[in-house]
Amino acid sequence: MITTTKKSQNPNPILAWEELRSTLTGTLILPDSEIYDKSRAIWNGMIDRKPACIVKCANVNDVVSAVNFGREQQLLVAVKGGGHNAAGFAMCDEGMVIDLSNMKEIEVDPKLRTVVAQPGVLWGEFDKATQEHGLAVTGGAVTTTGIAGLTLGGGVGWLMGKYGATCDNLLSAELVTADGQVLTASPEENPDLFWAIRGGGGNFGIVTSFEFQLHQVGNIIGGMVLHPMEKIVEVLKFFRSFTQNAPDELTVYAGAMTSPDGIPMVALILCYCGHDLNEGKRIIAPLREFGPPLADMIGTMPYLQQQSMLDAAAPHGLFSYWKANQLTTLSDEAIEVIKNQVLLVTSPRTMTLIEHHHGAINNVAQDSTAFMQRNSSYDFIIISLWNESEESPIHIEWTRNFFEAMKPFFSSGVYVNALFNDEGPDRVRAAYGDNYERLRHIKQIYDPKNFFRCNNNIVP
Ligand SMILES: Cc1cc2nc3c(=O)[nH]c(=O)nc-3n(C[C@H](O)[C@H](O)[C@H](O)COP(=O)(O)OP(=O)(O)OC[C@H]3O[C@@H](n4cnc5c(N)ncnc54)[C@H](O)[C@@H]3O)c2cc1C
Repeated sequence: MITTTKKSQNPNPILAWEELRSTLTGTLILPDSEIYDKSRAIWNGMIDRKPACIVKCANVNDVVSAVNFGREQQLLVAVKGGGHNAAGFAMCDEGMVIDLSNMKEIEVDPKLRTVVAQPGVLWGEFDKATQEHGLAVTGGAVTTTGIAGLTLGGGVGWLMGKYGATCDNLLSAELVTADGQVLTASPEENPDLFWAIRGGGGNFGIVTSFEFQLHQVGNIIGGMVLHPMEKIVEVLKFFRSFTQNAPDELTVYAGAMTSPDGIPMVALILCYCGHDLNEGKRIIAPLREFGPPLADMIGTMPYLQQQSMLDAAAPHGLFSYWKANQLTTLSDEAIEVIKNQVLLVTSPRTMTLIEHHHGAINNVAQDSTAFMQRNSSYDFIIISLWNESEESPIHIEWTRNFFEAMKPFFSSGVYVNALFNDEGPDRVRAAYGDNYERLRHIKQIYDPKNFFRCNNNIVP
């Protein structure tokens, strides 16, 4: 079991719970509440943290009250959006969790093609509301992921080649800062803060609403082809050459996984979001012909179908351990190591993904936003998943061994939202590279006492 080492500064805070409760429209959940255990459960079943209280906020005023109370009582504070962060930053031991999951308002302006959404909205809910108007923005590939943590870390998804990272589409945000102020961050207002929250995570305040630019996205070509694991070397070499010529409208991931009936497979999963679907069919034809695959599940479908396709592979409550990094290139040697390691996989639930990044997400200068993974073509991620707590050591060991074996092929960059909680400050620095010092400076302005520290922490 991995638990946090971050504790409240005051081990015996005089908790004026009733005083806090009286200021809230939402709910204060204490350990004796019958909904306490349900409320502290997050996506990764391995995270078993026991906060002193959970404040289920109903509105911005509740967030301000909770921040002020946490600061005055010197509580360790964690912030929960969708609760999907695998490292478990949404929960803490002993302190206060500011839980935004009930803040779910979402308002689309179809004329301006914009949306304002609160931080409890999940990607499935967001996509449903925006697709009613034929609109979308780059978002998470699983419907239960929160828009908040994903956007604040950068945000990658099927539309990133055409429309950039999720944070590239952020127009403005409303935040509650560590001193309880409500601020707007946009290109015009507090532009330093606006730069920092586009990738800098939850370090600068609690975002209480996000305004995004949306794009016209109708039916797409999506789905996957499956190949037998024996063909992994050929499939990954094909994936490498095919993706090198992919237009911005086409994003492809390669994945090693096990089918529900226990057969190891290599998948090529894709989304073509261009408006001319006939052109898309022509472009992806070689991918469907290659092999040929054991199964071809590619077709024209609503974007919502694509966005829920992977849900069953990553359900809530399984045990999970992640390791990720960007690759310099997907060399023959790297492919050989991937083959050798995935053949040793210890859990049939586990997935190894290689995500192709190109187009709009890479056409942004590295210092334009705090999110700086703009140069790499391939993002490598091992998502280990299993059912029982006793199995944890064996799966964690396999994941670490695989990651070690891949190190010769890594660039210096890693996506902050893929970091686990055992990686240390150097890896957070690696996620921000040359942007780290600027982030530190902005942290010193908005959160000098490091009130928001249950995260991939930028130390002020
Ligand atoms: C199954 C699965 C699929 C995923 N798929 C993708 C994907 O396709 N693309 C991608 O980019 N990422 C993906 N991720 C990673 C995802 O981006 C992160 O897990 C992200 O943290 C999820 O956001 P959340 O709101 O659910 O997180 P939470 O666990 O609720 O929060 C994580 C952290 O974000 C911060 N935070 C959350 N809300 C706020 C807020 N309102 N204000 C300030 N800080 C806040 C806090 O520091 C918090 O501790 C996936 C994760 C999982 C588990």
